[in-house]
Amino acid sequence: MKIYQCQNCNHPVYFENVTCESCQTWLGYVDAEDKMLALSPGGETWLVAEAGNRPYKYCSNHVHHVCNWMIPADDPTGLCTACVLNHTIPNLGNLRQLEEWRRLEKAKHRLVYALQRMGLPVIGKDEAPYRGLAFDFLADADQEDPVMTGHDAGLITLNTAEANSVHREATRLAMKERYRTLIGHFRHEVGHYYWDLLVAENDFTLTAFRNLFGDERADYGEALEQHYKNGPRQDWQRHFISSYATAHPWEDWAETWAHYLHLMDMLETAHAFGLSLNPPLGPDQMMNIEASFDPYNESEMDKILKACIPLTFAVNSLNRGMGRPDLYPFVVNADVRNKLKFVHKVVRTANR
Ligand SMILES: [Zn+2]
Ligand SMILES: [Zn+2]
Ligand SMILES: [Zn+2]
Repeated sequence: MKIYQCQNCNHPVYFENVTCESCQTWLGYVDAEDKMLALSPGGETWLVAEAGNRPYKYCSNHVHHVCNWMIPADDPTGLCTACVLNHTIPNLGNLRQLEEWRRLEKAKHRLVYALQRMGLPVIGKDEAPYRGLAFDFLADADQEDPVMTGHDAGLITLNTAEANSVHREATRLAMKERYRTLIGHFRHEVGHYYWDLLVAENDFTLTAFRNLFGDERADYGEALEQHYKNGPRQDWQRHFISSYATAHPWEDWAETWAHYLHLMDMLETAHAFGLSLNPPLGPDQMMNIEASFDPYNESEMDKILKACIPLTFAVNSLNRGMGRPDLYPFVVNADVRNKLKFVHKVVRTANR
């Protein structure tokens, strides 16, 4: 993620800010321009001082404190690029669910930002019922029959309980996972969606996929059942990014895809901060980094991966200093490296 600045006073602000901490000006993000605009009230709409007083309005979800994106004042939908993708939102009369929705949207807006930076199509099912993307945020109505987080033909379902940190951590421990976050869920599930769009329909890409990830025609339900019954194969750490990735080639793809998005975001942030590391270690220690390139414009995945090694070592060391778990609890082995290169190629081919 980039660093944004308040248009009024240049104070650095977070992507989610609605006001500037320094000058208290109202702020709104315009995805089409990738800018954080400073606004002043203009009757029904908001005026952007430095862009010729063009009228904008906040996305309708702004009133629920889940969105700070702006849309042109004459936009008929009332919803921004990220919010228009919602098919079902939680019950707003339930304060706990409303709070969970806020956390979900924070992660989802960051996802949409990344998809746009990757140059991928972000089209809702309102526009494209069959090939579009949509989200169902559902709460458990019956503990015996919980809502399953997953993807089906462009419709991504998320159990809102995942936005509860106690529930999420308990699930992470029960599933013996190294990493479980909301943004991780979004990145994983949308990976299934883009597999349908970018891999399944191209014979050449599909063959290359099968060579790396295996044959996805293997019975999916049975594969998952086996995974939950028997656990991952013993040597998974030598071939996969996570134990869940061993369950089925589709899950391997989604886990690798999510990981790709993790790396791109980390490196974009390092680049935005002009980060460089040069620890006084012995020769050939691979811990130097000059984050002098934007990964979204970089064709070489090797270059991205090379820069990520020292970066992840540094951030893990910072976290350990604060008594926190490793920020980046992963090891990229040679097989995963090749799979990540494949994901990078698929993305770059798609946006050419
Ligand atoms: Zn300001
Ligand atoms: Zn919105
Ligand atoms: Zn999955």
